[in-house]
Amino acid sequence: MAQQYPVSPIDLHMHSMASDGTMTPADLVQRVHGAGVRVMALTDHDNTAGLEEAAIQAEALDIRLIPGVEISSEWETQGIHIVGLFVDQKNSVLQEGLSRIMAFRDWRAMEIDRLLANAGITGAEAGARAMAGSRMVGRSHFGRWLVREGRCADANEAFGKYLGRGCKAYVPSNWIPMTEVVGWIHAAGGYAVLAHPGRYKLSGTRLRALLSAFRDAGGVGLEVCTGSQAAGDREHLGRLAQQLGMAGSVGSDFHGPDAGHAAIGHLLPLPDGVEPVWERAGIHLY
Ligand code: AMP
Ligand code: MN
Ligand code: MN
Ligand code: MN
Repeated sequence: MAQQYPVSPIDLHMHSMASDGTMTPADLVQRVHGAGVRVMALTDHDNTAGLEEAAIQAEALDIRLIPGVEISSEWETQGIHIVGLFVDQKNSVLQEGLSRIMAFRDWRAMEIDRLLANAGITGAEAGARAMAGSRMVGRSHFGRWLVREGRCADANEAFGKYLGRGCKAYVPSNWIPMTEVVGWIHAAGGYAVLAHPGRYKLSGTRLRALLSAFRDAGGVGLEVCTGSQAAGDREHLGRLAQQLGMAGSVGSDFHGPDAGHAAIGHLLPLPDGVEPVWERAGIHLY
């Protein structure tokens, strides 16, 4: 039987147009409200520019908004995403760190443009920036532009053909190491959570090694419940959290209402016995 998903009252991972989501922060909060979620975190990639607008709408709709960010990072050679929750967006250590990543993104956009031009596709950076609608440009925007130009059928094909690791327009990423990124989140008074652990396709041993290293660096939790995760991941990740003494988080990774994206609040609750990361900040839900 298909797994039933009641709407989760809390969703701590989602994107707006401040990164590669397709909705404005205000519209996103409106949609969160409509979905029946009461506590949300806006976690745009590598910047916090959407938080101010989101906060105004959240206040108006009585949504509890947790300020967040999803930071691109790496552990050993593995690219990982670290969600910072309850961060003080005014903190200069955090903002200086994020500005380094945004500078890398600008350089990478130029490189992707050059590699696509080598493959006979010109005008990609300008096209991707026009799709972005904010300062942050990412591979999703290149993917959407490639689809709009009729070069690819959908985003998945754009990643499989051009943007994904090892493909024609792939630029090896040079993200900031995990320990440093966790340090920025701490400096900003936040909690560091490992995003979507199932998506890195690591062996059991390697995932455990990553989580131990993350915990030793000061990471407090992991996303035990994420949007569109494989069967059994939730239980497996819940057990790992308990064994390692880490808290659990839940987040859809919503990017927009279009097909192919996870829905807001479409999440199972944390398995029994897993400490909710939000309780560390005094929020009690269930
Ligand atoms: P970036 O941070 O610019 O390297 O881009 C990574 C983003 O691309 C992720 O956050 C996803 O939103 C998106 N993405 C990654 N893989 C795929 C895929 N196969 N199809 C569509 N979007 C993807
Ligand atoms: Mn994304
Ligand atoms: Mn991510
Ligand atoms: Mn995300």
